[in-house]
Amino acid sequence: MSQPGSARSEASLISSAGVKAYSLEQLDELVVSLGQPRFRTRQLVAWLYGKGASSYDEMSNLPAALRAQLAEQHPLFVPRVVAKATSNDGTRKYLLELADGARVETVGIPTPGRLTVCFSTQVGCAMGCAFCATGTLGLTRSLAPGEMVDQVNLVARDFGARATNAVAMGQGEPFANYNATLAALRFMNSADGLGVGARHLTVSTCGIISQIRRLAAEPEQFTLAVSLHSAVQATRNKLMPSLAEQPLEQLRSTLDSYGQKTGRRPSLEYALIHKVNDSDAELEALLAFCQGILCHVNLIPLNLVQHSAWQAPPRTRALAFEQALQKAHVEASLRSSRGADIAGACGQLATQQEVG
Ligand code: SAH
Ligand code: SF4
Repeated sequence: MSQPGSARSEASLISSAGVKAYSLEQLDELVVSLGQPRFRTRQLVAWLYGKGASSYDEMSNLPAALRAQLAEQHPLFVPRVVAKATSNDGTRKYLLELADGARVETVGIPTPGRLTVCFSTQVGCAMGCAFCATGTLGLTRSLAPGEMVDQVNLVARDFGARATNAVAMGQGEPFANYNATLAALRFMNSADGLGVGARHLTVSTCGIISQIRRLAAEPEQFTLAVSLHSAVQATRNKLMPSLAEQPLEQLRSTLDSYGQKTGRRPSLEYALIHKVNDSDAELEALLAFCQGILCHVNLIPLNLVQHSAWQAPPRTRALAFEQALQKAHVEASLRSSRGADIAGACGQLATQQEVG
């Protein structure tokens, strides 16, 4: 298993994805290397992602010789839906198979006037967070940019609607696959691709500090969410052992700089776990962490994960957290989970063979 964020985990993604392995810059290089003018890159992006083409034959404004060359050298795959489940609340979960047989889950969440797609960035995850179903899988491989964009396209097509929002909150740690995730967000953002506004594209990280700094320096206004889950170091180490080397103090100062540099407000995700991170001492630590930095706390009662004894606290306790934060002038919302009845809620994605 390669280290999250290492060159090896980033490089391993090119192998089986064909043309979906490339970033915009790499597609541009490819087009030029094939002796084509640069405007062909935009046409190619419009077909691959704007229209979600399933073969080069559809690309009627590209020269036949170019289509043949691309088909031979950079095959075009689209994911196959292996299974689909629909929740009582309209949320749909898909199990998708990629070109090499790897399987990932994607979730489509409709709300009035909106369609949010929660896409995966890796097959499994190496971080091993104790409360997360994906964490039990280990990492198989990282996804290529186009494999992420395809998830959003597929869900939008299934709903017969435009995706208005996309969140990298499915399986995997996006910042352990930084370059591909950023390339995917750029295709989603671009007018030739999906045309989703940068602020409506969210990347959720377990808190890899070096990559938060990188994101702060990117030109786009992508939205950042950080999984905090406890502001007490010992509790967080237990919940998120892979982050133990990245002290909370440093995370806090990085978020402080992020807010100052970008003027944007990151979300802090806090899954409430009864008798683990819902005590008064945990609340005090959370309040202290949030004071003085730009942030919005999303409180999420823990979603049940198989083989885990942990549970969400009583609702009154969750409300008490929300009220205490608001009273201290920290923006906070208590979220209700969508899709929990089909194991499609946060942390429940584990690529079961049967989806519903
Ligand atoms: N790896 C990234 C993004 C994928 S996880 C991250 O950790 O941020 C998406 C979100 O679901 C994260 O905030 C994660 O902490 C949360 N999550 C994981 N397991 C959960 C559970 N059982 N209940 C509620 N939220 C959970
Ligand atoms: Fe990976 Fe995020 Fe789950 Fe942690 S919470 S195991 S980082 S997917």
